[in-house]
Amino acid sequence: MDKKRSKELSIEFFPPKTPEGAEKLRLVKDRLVKEVKPSFFSVTFGAGGSTQEGTLRTVESIHQSGQEAAPHLSCVGSSKENIYELLRLYKEMGVRRIVALRGDLPSGMGQYGEFHHANELVAYIRESYGDWFHIEVAAYPEMHPQASSVRADIEHFVTKIQAGANSAITQYFYNTDAYFQYIEDVESRGVKVPIVPGIMPITSSSQLLRFSDSCGAEIPRWLRKRLEGFGDDIASIKAFGLDVVTDLSLQLLAGGAPGLHFYSLNQADPTIAIIKNLD
Ligand code: FAD
Repeated sequence: MDKKRSKELSIEFFPPKTPEGAEKLRLVKDRLVKEVKPSFFSVTFGAGGSTQEGTLRTVESIHQSGQEAAPHLSCVGSSKENIYELLRLYKEMGVRRIVALRGDLPSGMGQYGEFHHANELVAYIRESYGDWFHIEVAAYPEMHPQASSVRADIEHFVTKIQAGANSAITQYFYNTDAYFQYIEDVESRGVKVPIVPGIMPITSSSQLLRFSDSCGAEIPRWLRKRLEGFGDDIASIKAFGLDVVTDLSLQLLAGGAPGLHFYSLNQADPTIAIIKNLD
């Protein structure tokens, strides 16, 4: 991909916990900028505000390096005052894009706070800061794990867009039909905003299977079996994963996806390898 690229590419980081981690991430970010020129980097936010400081610092560092940084902001367990203040800090910094989420209550933290769902956060951001922020929201082509039905989940997604979200990023998936069906369903409900597929590179089978169980992303049987068949052969898992995710990305782009959002897990190589393959 080069300057003529018409599809948006974004890359997600999580906030590092140590100064060494921060330095390592800075190098990863510099490599990604040089090699694949993403439109923006997003930075996750720990449930219940557990990484609030780390998210702020990581966003600040990316922003100061001249790249667009989009903080994730989850509202569960937060007060309006706290959210208002965080947004004020981001606005002051010059941040123009927010990924607005409900988040999940950490176990043992029983209080929802003043927000119950992401649509309320989107509405609050619009009410408090007008059009300053471009608001991204989450979408689930394979259904959010807590939704009562696909239909209800789609209605709830539509509510977030009606509340003022500009675009969406999906949970990752390995089944393109789920994405295209989802797009058809939400478009038939009048949604016209870009819905960018979230892409999880495959570099380790145990990590992927563990993650996917917890966030409700389905690993198709054929993929699970192939990964299990490689055992501890990391080189083969990586080579196979690169082929699978390259194909997935190509199919999504050919089918009209407006761009790709990479869950980088703070690593440069897997994302760069896939994007180079797309050339
Ligand atoms: P919502 O849109 O509020 O939906 C949550 C559930 O409630 C769904 O089942 C939905 O159908 C239902 N629902 C929604 N609105 C209503 C309503 N008005 N009435 C009744 N039911 C409703 N988590 C983090 O902790 N930190 C992160 O940085 C983070 N980043 C993410 C980035 C992306 C791109 C994605 C896809 C997910 C991310 N998550 C993150 C995970 C996310 O926080 C969880 O999936 C969480 O359970 C739902 O958040 P949401 O914003 O999708 O919630």
